[in-house]
Amino acid sequence: MKKINLLVVGLFVSGALSAQNINKLIHETNVTRLIRTLSADSLGGRSSLLPGGIDKAAAFIEAEFLKIGLDPPPGATSFRQEFPKERIRRTGTTVTVDGEVIPAENLIVVSNQEKVDWNNNASVREITKEKNFMRLAFGMMEDSTDKLVLVDASHEPLFRRAQGYYNRIRLLDGPPKTGSVVFVLGKTAATSYQVQIAQERERFMMTNLVGMLPGKSPARRKELVVFSGHYDHIGILGQVSGDSIANGADDDASGTTAVIELARYFKKLKSNSRTLVFAAFTAEEIGGYGSRHFSQQLNPDSVVAMFNIEMIGKVSKFGKDAAFITGYERSDFGKILQKNLKGTAFTFHPDPYPDQNLFYRSDNATLARLGVPAHTISTDQIDIDKFYHTVDDELETLDISNITRTIQAIALSARGIVAGRETPTRIDKTKVR
Ligand SMILES: [Zn+2]
Repeated sequence: MKKINLLVVGLFVSGALSAQNINKLIHETNVTRLIRTLSADSLGGRSSLLPGGIDKAAAFIEAEFLKIGLDPPPGATSFRQEFPKERIRRTGTTVTVDGEVIPAENLIVVSNQEKVDWNNNASVREITKEKNFMRLAFGMMEDSTDKLVLVDASHEPLFRRAQGYYNRIRLLDGPPKTGSVVFVLGKTAATSYQVQIAQERERFMMTNLVGMLPGKSPARRKELVVFSGHYDHIGILGQVSGDSIANGADDDASGTTAVIELARYFKKLKSNSRTLVFAAFTAEEIGGYGSRHFSQQLNPDSVVAMFNIEMIGKVSKFGKDAAFITGYERSDFGKILQKNLKGTAFTFHPDPYPDQNLFYRSDNATLARLGVPAHTISTDQIDIDKFYHTVDDELETLDISNITRTIQAIALSARGIVAGRETPTRIDKTKVR
């Protein structure tokens, strides 16, 4: 009797302690440090295609995983999960329209060809003042004819934005694209023109960072719980009042920070029966290449749940101390998380933006297609977030205490799954497109 009583008291106390300790183990100072580092200008917006910034981010996350004391994945000697890709980089551009050399800042070149050499032999199109620039430009990039596109000067603001996205190193992936498109800003006629473009192909490595905490229970060790976020962002955009770096503090330095903090928390707790996998993905912004590669390195049937964390930097539509879960109705993952937060101030909600297709717009989708209860947790008001994918997604626009409490809530809500007491239902993969 006494023994049982002691045990019950013991459990109770340790439960209470872990709830209290969470404020010590996951705190604002460290959250600020991580986001500040990941969203610094020196990381150049962490484009997964550009060398430099993304490599610094990877090295930083690697050092954090090492400091925390995570293990590399089985068979690996480091946290770096690398895979090769090919990119094409422009090395020379000369565009002349009616004898006038067009300056680089008035050009967008979209081409997968190593050499483009036109002498009045592409088709000439126009995007006039009254037209929808983005829609037309996008359509013109889709088909495979060579085009010189004259863009009315009134479209300059959107042209500058598009420049950041399209006028950069391109990933070569999928079926070869044959047509090249050159957009020229501020020209309304081209009687004669010459275009010469030289580009170089290059193989390079993309890198996910993956660290593990092996499960303490031999029976549960084979069952994986994944915590993930993407550490890449969109890089450099066109200039906006002197700033051109899209820092991606919310998207998704906040989620990457959560992954690191959760790793630190569960390492200290030492109570995970299941094996925990902490993943910082690359190349989410250009098509989810990192999470796709990750999903091919493991047996999806062994993944019990995936907590993907994406944009938790600002107060949600439901007010503070609240977040939402995408694909809520597809498994009972969300209900389990909600249940574990009873008695706290924090609440989880189903995704309030079904029209935005957020379930498919982050790294959870790949594993969800394989049947894993893989969901994204977010607080972003995506319908009105004016900083989303702009140069103003910076540390200063974030609510650090909201981020910290969201990470704490994820930690508390995951306890049963981490301990092996709770197992979410699988997602019906036939219903995931
Ligand atoms: Zn994102």
